[in-house]
Order: sequence, then C-alpha cells, then structure tokens
Amino acid sequence: MSFNVYNTMTRSKEEFIPYVEGKVGMYTCGPTVYNYAHIGNLRTYIFEDVLKKALEYSKFKVKHVMNITDVGHLQSDGDEGQDKMALGAKREHKTVWEIAKFYEDAFFEDCKKLNIKRPTIVCRATEHIQDMIGFIKKLEEKGYTYVSNGNVYFEIDKFPDYAKLAHLSLDELEAGSRIEVDINKRNPLDFVLWFTNSKFSNQIMQWESPWGKGFPGWHLECSTMSVKYIGEYLDIHCGGIDHIAIHHTNEVAQSEGVLGHKWVKYWMHGEFLVLDSGKMSKSSGNFLTISSLEEEGYSPLDYRYFCLQSKYRKQLVFSFESLNDARNGYKKLKERIAIVLSAINENDIVSGEKILSYKEKFSSFISDDLNIANAFTVLFDVLKDTNLNNKEKSILIEDFDKIFTLNLMIIEKETTDIDEELINNLIIERNAARASKNWARADEIRDEFIAMNIELLDSKEGTTWKAK
Ligand code: AMP
Ligand code: ZN
Repeated sequence: MSFNVYNTMTRSKEEFIPYVEGKVGMYTCGPTVYNYAHIGNLRTYIFEDVLKKALEYSKFKVKHVMNITDVGHLQSDGDEGQDKMALGAKREHKTVWEIAKFYEDAFFEDCKKLNIKRPTIVCRATEHIQDMIGFIKKLEEKGYTYVSNGNVYFEIDKFPDYAKLAHLSLDELEAGSRIEVDINKRNPLDFVLWFTNSKFSNQIMQWESPWGKGFPGWHLECSTMSVKYIGEYLDIHCGGIDHIAIHHTNEVAQSEGVLGHKWVKYWMHGEFLVLDSGKMSKSSGNFLTISSLEEEGYSPLDYRYFCLQSKYRKQLVFSFESLNDARNGYKKLKERIAIVLSAINENDIVSGEKILSYKEKFSSFISDDLNIANAFTVLFDVLKDTNLNNKEKSILIEDFDKIFTLNLMIIEKETTDIDEELINNLIIERNAARASKNWARADEIRDEFIAMNIELLDSKEGTTWKAK
C-alpha cells in the first residue's frame, strides 16, 4: 500500500518515496523557548507526531530531528521587532540562558503530557554556532552573500526560483511579509545570516566570527542542523503554515545554495489553530497553554483528541464548547473500550483474517495524507462489530493506538466506575422507553448495548447485565 502525502512544494498529493528505501529523514522546526508553547504551536507538534507514528506504522524507520531556537529569533524576520529571547528575559528578570532552559523543559513537559514522542535528535541553536558559521562560509564561497552595515546578508537574487515553495511572485512575497525598509539590503527580501550590528547591541548571546562578534539569523539554524544530522537529502520537512513564505523559503535558498541540488523532497505544513476570539498571539498575551486547559479541568489528552478530530490541513477554531464536545467523545470512547477490555476471554480464538482486514482499512486511511478522522471511524466500526470477539477488538484497539496514542488501553479507575453508572442509567431509560411504548428509543438503547458488548438479562426481578 502506498503512503501518500500532500506536498506544499507541488501543491498536490503525492506518493511518498524516500530518498533511501525504508528510511525517512524528517526535520521539524522546534520551539522558540522564550515562553510557554501555546495550544496552536502544540497542534502543529501533534500533527508532526501523528505523521511520524503513521510512517512508523507503515514500516518506515524514521530519524526525526528538531531544533530548539534559543537565540536569534526576532519577532519579525529581519532586524526588526523585538528579540524574543531578550523579551522573555526582561519580562521575568532572568538571564536569557535561564529563560531558554526553563521554557525548553516546559515544552517537553507539555509534549510528554500530550503523548508526543521525543524526536530522535533535539539540537539547540546555541550549541551549533560553529556549524552555522561554517555554513555561512560556504555560502560566501559560492557568492550568495554580501556584507552591509556590519551584517552578512543572503542575496536572494542570486538564487533562482527563490519563491518556488511559496508559489508567489517576488512582489507578492514582499507585500505578504510586510518587511520594514532596510537601506542596507540590496533586495527587501534579502535576509540576515549573521548580525554584528544589530539594533540589539546589548544582545547577551554573542559569539566571535570571521565577520565580527555577533549572533546568527534565525533561518540559518534549521538548514545547518538538518544537513548536519540528516544529511544532504531530506525526505520530509514540517512546520506550521506561517513558515512557508519566509522561514522555509529562506531555508530552501540557503540549503540548496550550499548543497547545489534539491534538498527536501516533501514539505508538509500544518494549518493554524485559531481562537474563536481571533488569532493567538504570545506578544498580545491572547494565548492558551496546556496548563490553562488543565486549570479549566481538561486533560492534555482531551486536547490531543480534539486535534485529531480535524484534518491537519484545515484551520481549526478553538472554543471551550468544542473542547468540551471532544472531551465527552473521548470519555465515551474510553468507556466503551473499558467494557471490551474488562470482558476479554483469554480462550477466545483470534481470526488473523479479520484483524488483517481491519488493519488494512485503517492503514488505507492513515496513508491517505493522514486521514485520521476516517481512521477513527474504523475504530468505531471495530467496537460495533458483533462478529469480533473482545480479544480481537483489543488487539485492534492497541494497534490503532500506536498512532492515536490516546492511552486507549489504559482503563482508569474512574472510567470503569462511570461505565457502570452509564449502563445502569441506560437500563433505566430503556425500561422507561418500553413502558411508554417508545420502541424507537428502546431499540436505539438496545443497539448501544450490542455495540458495547453488554448482554441484558430481563427477568421478573428486573433487568441485570453482564459483559459478553
Ligand atoms: P514558534 O515557537 O513560534 O517558532 O512556533 C512553533 C511551531 O508552531 C511552528 O511550526 C509554527 O509554524 C507553529 N505555529 C505557530 N502558531 C500556530 C498556530 N496558531 N496554530 C498552529 N501552529 C502554529
Ligand atoms: Zn525551521
């Protein structure tokens, strides 16, 4: 079965064929560690996590590299706006190093709570300054750079097809990126590789370089570290859609400039999560974190479930109402699964054929550009299927949860307690429906019991139940 993904570079769905058979090099842009990751950022990391797990499910061996931006990311992409790290340090009266360490740890703590698997390699920008300097030197040798007013710039006019990823004209790119006029640039879209003369002259993180003491431009770290850890040929590069027009466009120019050949085979981008009240922005303080959801009584996995209900390429509007719906859906799902798991008969015979047929159906959806919503329908079909015994169901649930990673095989105490309550309430409702001759509702409830694998025993004394 082929694995298909939507490639931003070609704007089409393509069969995924890695550079080296069976092996995948995957690079995802990591967090800028000056504040907590917001739930929008985490939506993108959940999408990337699902992608990696789907590839592994499809038997690819994935090497996943992610950077930590702990230096140089300004609020805009030139020498403009604010230095994000310095902003964090000022806000919290800490050093930039303390800020970086604190928010990196907080980020991985959030990832752990969301069952996001740690990348194979996590690399910090500040630990790769010499690699970045080496990268600029290569660009310099190849004639892509110029020095102006103390800073080293990448000259985009030297790189044909600069706008190929964004699918825009240079004018459109320029208009979209709202770049402040910088008289030191030859083209407004040129970007800084190394700052020695920034308006942030009080930058604490500075290093010696052939161009003077300074710090790297943000885009450079991803090109440098990805080539260092994955090599000259990268299968998949991911990030949020905001990165297409500037950050990733600049990465392509730098990397292909140095390498002299095509670099990334598939570009994959996650759409934004927006609040119903508008765009989330850390600088305006209008953002939610995993902790803020927890404070409202939601678990991180409620949020993971919420994200998995929508396509990664569609914008997702967040509201507490919709999170609430997701939490209820997730809870019901776990309750139904708990019933299956608590009623497994170890002597049940497992039919390899039935298992395979469901796995194939599931695979066909996940390998269709991560159609996770449809993959969930396969899980629900399994739960409903009266031709499957509980042992077969549990095998399939465990298998599908390799991608969902929603702890579906863990029965929380609370879940089993609530199961009984739910069942007893349904029995009361069914009896009431029968008494009032509401046969349609009574039948519906009967079907729900069949789906849950619950057998009802009606007698003179009333109705009891047992798990099948
Ligand atoms: P940053 O820490 O700002 O570099 O962002 C980390 C990741 O989150 C990047 O892949 C961004 O493209 C992505 N991102 C930023 N804002 C959002 C959002 N509202 N929804 C989804 N992804 C986002
Ligand atoms: Zn990046």
